[in-house]
Amino acid sequence: MKKKIAIVTGGAGFIGSHLVDLLLKKKFAVRVIDNFSGGRKKNLSLHKKNPDLKIINKDITNLNGNEKFFENVDYIFHFAGKGDIVPSIENPEDYLTTNVSGTLKILIGSRKSTKLKKFIYAASSSCYGLAKTPTNENHPINPEYPYALSKYMGEMLCHHWQKIYNIPVNSIRIFNAYGPRVKTTGVYGAVFGVFLKQKLSNKPFTVVGTGKQKRDFLYVTDVADAFYRCAISKYVGHIYNLGAGKPNSINKLIKIIKGNKIYLPKRPGEPDITHADITKISKHLNWKPKVSFEKGVKNMLECISEWDDAPLWDKKTIKLATKTWFKYMNKNG
Ligand code: UDP
Repeated sequence: MKKKIAIVTGGAGFIGSHLVDLLLKKKFAVRVIDNFSGGRKKNLSLHKKNPDLKIINKDITNLNGNEKFFENVDYIFHFAGKGDIVPSIENPEDYLTTNVSGTLKILIGSRKSTKLKKFIYAASSSCYGLAKTPTNENHPINPEYPYALSKYMGEMLCHHWQKIYNIPVNSIRIFNAYGPRVKTTGVYGAVFGVFLKQKLSNKPFTVVGTGKQKRDFLYVTDVADAFYRCAISKYVGHIYNLGAGKPNSINKLIKIIKGNKIYLPKRPGEPDITHADITKISKHLNWKPKVSFEKGVKNMLECISEWDDAPLWDKKTIKLATKTWFKYMNKNG
């Protein structure tokens, strides 16, 4: 039987590379499109010799949608994009170009395949802003910063393409994904990279606020599993929230990874809790999280040396890195 072909944009990134692992395991032929701005070769090094993996080193914003690699594709998973809050406040245009216009290029390309069965957009739960919890898919939209807005605009573009051109789109709004390969370089963000490097360096964990705030952390292989199921499901034109459905606090995280704490001021615009209502995704895709928070965090501790080359953040450097955040978000109340 001929192998099914999947494109994974951002396939060298954190979540994208875990999906590539899964797709190759399921005997798909995979075409990764990545410009290696956030993605890393190392994330795909397991498959170096696998002829089923093709890596296309391109920036999605430079595509015209007419490229040959869009032909004969069965599935497209679109992860490529720019993350992080602070730089999105500083350079909103970059975010709109990559996350909106870049998405448009992939949508244009998707029309080249006559075999396309599903287009899955990796959306962000940040579209809900400071949301009521548990948050379901009908919750009002209220992006708090340009990153959130750009991801939401990209998502709407995908659903519009479904409506007009019949592209079989679903989008998945990811809450807090964590696990091996979570981003370690570049700008300040994602609590896991920050804390694991602090642990490696025997420095105290920089806790924002009281540490009682909770996030709906979901282990990355469970995220990849949901994307895979969403692709092969019969459902089209849907939006799904994806989290563990079980928030855990920052203090709980520290209890597992163990160490001293220091405290930083609470950041404006940050929710005290995120909590996905996962009723819809569980029902439609027959999906449920398999990796508990304790187990997931322990897995990360086992490969803690991954964060050797991550930047080490402390109170002073974090204050500097979040200056823009405080300036603009405070102004907005
Ligand atoms: N956080 C923290 N210390 C840090 C970085 C983050 O206590 O040095 C907290 C942050 O306040 C938030 C949680 O960790 O409650 C998750 O933050 P992250 O930036 O990873 O995700 P997001 O806030 O976007 O959900």
